[in-house]
Amino acid sequence: MLISKDSRLSFEKSRAGRRGVKMPSSRLIQGASHIPDDMKRKRPLLFPELTEPEIVRHFVNLSKKNFSIDTHFYPLGSCTMKYNPKINEWAAALESFAGVHPLQPEETAQGILRIFYELEDYLKEITGMDRFTLQPAAGAHGELTGMMLVHAYHERRGEINRRKVLVPDSSHGTNPASAALLGYHVVELKSNDRGRVDLKALESQLDDETACLMLTNPNTLGLFEEEILEITKRVHQKGALLYYDGANLNALMGIARPGDMGFDIVHLNLHKTFSTPHGGGGPGAGPVGVKKELIPFLPLPLVEKKGNNYGWIERNEQSIGRVKSFYGNTGMLLRAYVYIRTLGLSGLKQVSEDAILNANYLKEKLKMVFPVAVDEACMHEFVLSLKNGKNQIVHAGDVGKRLLDYGFHAPTVHFPLVVEEALMIEPTESESRETLDQFIEAMKQIAQEIQTDPEKVKSAPHTLPIRRPDEVLAARKPILSYRDQMREKILQAEGVQS
Ligand SMILES: *Cc1c(COP(=O)(O)O)cnc(C)c1O
Repeated sequence: MLISKDSRLSFEKSRAGRRGVKMPSSRLIQGASHIPDDMKRKRPLLFPELTEPEIVRHFVNLSKKNFSIDTHFYPLGSCTMKYNPKINEWAAALESFAGVHPLQPEETAQGILRIFYELEDYLKEITGMDRFTLQPAAGAHGELTGMMLVHAYHERRGEINRRKVLVPDSSHGTNPASAALLGYHVVELKSNDRGRVDLKALESQLDDETACLMLTNPNTLGLFEEEILEITKRVHQKGALLYYDGANLNALMGIARPGDMGFDIVHLNLHKTFSTPHGGGGPGAGPVGVKKELIPFLPLPLVEKKGNNYGWIERNEQSIGRVKSFYGNTGMLLRAYVYIRTLGLSGLKQVSEDAILNANYLKEKLKMVFPVAVDEACMHEFVLSLKNGKNQIVHAGDVGKRLLDYGFHAPTVHFPLVVEEALMIEPTESESRETLDQFIEAMKQIAQEIQTDPEKVKSAPHTLPIRRPDEVLAARKPILSYRDQMREKILQAEGVQS
């Protein structure tokens, strides 16, 4: 060992004898005869020794090293990083909700059951669907659930030859992945030159082996499918179902409904459109809504009104079964419920109108700086293309990194795949004109830098504690705790390859 036992075990800021709190002596430990010997701690517990102000500063400073929606503009396309109202957090933390146990008898959990029931009602009204399951824990989980419903529906009708799922090339990457997980043969549809579903391409693939068309609308270019009614008609004529990826419903609330467009199944991302927090891997909520014919296949349990009370429906022979323990991420459902109740239907409509307005404002200003992938009125987001010929020096990802120096979270880069050097920008409705203008200004300056000092953009960020981590290594071998980091250092000092 090159590092002494003490320095290896102590935290860097720790100094022996410093105290933040004084622990009362424990009677348990003094007379610990009732703790079996083999369960007793062999070594003293490792705590850093620090005063309270040192600890507070340490954690507050750590928290400031991150970009978050509470600290920065976060135009991460497709992710809808809107502000998470604090009233949602207040409601989710109420003891009467946070303290409910999932195995409590239903007559003692009427409050939360009523919230589930009413939330389902609101989602039905917003989307034009007939019933929802609130169980799925994410958008992709909703897609998987939806594809299981598609499978159950065709199987029930004896049409097991339907093994093909059509997915436009402008759809979200999770769509083909979810269909493939269920063993479907995924067929990609090429978009037309306006970035929409090409009816001829659709027609050429549609046949009586088609199980479903999965459509993201607005698509990942931020464009509304104008021929949506024609698309749904043709798919239904062939006996196939229509799946609506409604993760991006932020553009449509109070304006248009997937149910009215002819869709059979839709998932929503409450952790996008309905302001529940996300990032860092969850938790989320991806409720799935269906039309009447598919209700019998929905996962169980569902919430039902029984007289004046609310209760569970636990049995149904045709159900695909559970897709999540208990009833999903309850805290997320509660937050979304509060969001809907605080805004009302007219408020939700204004959310969508403002999201569209903000996106179009940014697009119009930024297209003078970088070309737009499809220069048409957009919905809640749009895509720039930074492609500039064969000898491209600065890539979309570099611009994303440089934006961090200007105090903005990066947009989504190199996605959607249909656009080369894509920068996908979604401002959301919760940003002010001033913030949007500052972002435009930063983009102009970066465009200038690309001309005068491309190296500066290529080597960004210059102002952050970590610059360009190895993204694969960071994902595969994350160092998540202090001790992991120490271990790495020790191994390095000893010349051991980990
Ligand atoms: C975010 C998103 C998804 C996936 O949602 P997750 O909750 O991340 O699984 C699917 N489709 C679209 C269009 C999305 O924007």
